[in-house]
Amino acid sequence: MRKGSLYVFTGPSGAGKGTLLSRLREQDDRLFYSISATTRAPRPGETDGVQYYFLSKADFEEKIAQNAFLEHARYVDNYYGTLEAPVNEKLDEGYDVILEIEVQGAMQVHKKRPDAVMVFIAPPSFEELAARLRGRGTEDEEKVRKRLETAREELKQQDRFDYVVVNDEIDRAVDEIKGIFAARRG
Ligand code: 5GP
Repeated sequence: MRKGSLYVFTGPSGAGKGTLLSRLREQDDRLFYSISATTRAPRPGETDGVQYYFLSKADFEEKIAQNAFLEHARYVDNYYGTLEAPVNEKLDEGYDVILEIEVQGAMQVHKKRPDAVMVFIAPPSFEELAARLRGRGTEDEEKVRKRLETAREELKQQDRFDYVVVNDEIDRAVDEIKGIFAARRG
């Protein structure tokens, strides 16, 4: 069986990665979405093992020590990381595996897996990003400010990616991403 490809989707918090990817998920059953581990608290409606594996700091650090992560990073005040074993398993089964991660982690994957397809999801503008992040209402103002500070740095890195998709309009951006899969699958 043909092995799957690894896709890394990055972009600042609020750029709409999650929305775009959930749309694709409905339309493509050859994709497997990696479930990350994090030390941040679940938001209302989030369930352990669905959006994330929610771990204590001690458990996360134990997994770092065990080398269980393909990549991991500190983002704002928490750890986030991709467990390596399930990713390899799904690639071997022929699925294309999607990681939705922040920039530092993306760069670690790029180094370890030079074949990974690197996609940066950008907001139409910084102002629009700030408006979306505040409008979402999932973080208090201090956390929003920290996420925006991080976003400024992340946006500077977009030239290092294979593709930059501007999320100006959802249907259009989804079509552009489908085009990337089509091009890669040949
Ligand atoms: P959130 O707290 O909004 O769910 O995620 C915050 C940021 O962490 C987002 O940019 C998200 O893409 C990123 N993230 C989620 N999972 C991982 C992961 O496994 N590794 C890394 N490096 N970043 C992640």
